[in-house]
Amino acid sequence: MSPARTVLVAGGGICGNALAVLLRRAGIGVDLVELSSDWSVQGSGITLQGNALRVLREVGAWEEIRASITEDRAVNYTWFHRLLVEGPWHRGRVVLAGDAAHACPPTLAQGAAMSLEDALVLAELLTGGADWDERTLAAYRERRMPRVRMVVENSVRLGDWLMEGVRDADVPGLIGRTMTVLGEHP
Ligand SMILES: Cc1cc2nc3c(=O)[nH]c(=O)nc-3n(C[C@H](O)[C@H](O)[C@H](O)COP(=O)(O)OP(=O)(O)OC[C@H]3O[C@@H](n4cnc5c(N)ncnc54)[C@H](O)[C@@H]3O)c2cc1C
Repeated sequence: MSPARTVLVAGGGICGNALAVLLRRAGIGVDLVELSSDWSVQGSGITLQGNALRVLREVGAWEEIRASITEDRAVNYTWFHRLLVEGPWHRGRVVLAGDAAHACPPTLAQGAAMSLEDALVLAELLTGGADWDERTLAAYRERRMPRVRMVVENSVRLGDWLMEGVRDADVPGLIGRTMTVLGEHP
């Protein structure tokens, strides 16, 4: 691959925005395109836990986000999907990140967190001096896959337990084990 060092981020969700900030801060040229012309907030409030807050602080967005949280009455109804791309997360220089690569029901409140971590890890690899080649992009997926797979599978298991009304399910145990792993650097 040629040594071009510019990035086009397609999608201005939490993942795309975080990636754009982290790459630009490292001096990499980034264009960000967003399908929607409306940047207003839609949807439901979400829970962001320690690992997500650490990335938002790194990006420099947390204080502003916290100051903007004033509305607690919005209710949103939506379908939940499960997605985990088992094959490569890149083709040539096109790379998947965030919900485009993995999505799950919000039973662990970790979808946005995993998207933010993707942005952090991808930015680390792209700005860490390595060539932007097959190996670097494959390393991104290899580093993310075990953690993301655990979150997707455990989120779905919690959702199944809820839907099926399993009364003796070890919900605290499953959440505790998951959060222990997520306490480590992604
Ligand atoms: C009800 C609900 C509750 C949730 N609760 C939590 C929670 O408590 N905690 C948590 O961590 N996560 C939660 N999640 C998950 C979280 O919202 C998602 O994982 C996260 O928003 C994914 O971010 P993203 O940037 O990858 O994708 P998105 O937020 O989907 O952003 C993708 C962007 O790309 C744009 N786009 C799409 N196609 C194109 C294109 N061709 N060109 C340009 N732009 C394009 C879209 O318009 C969109 O703005 C919840 C999700 C739901 C639905």
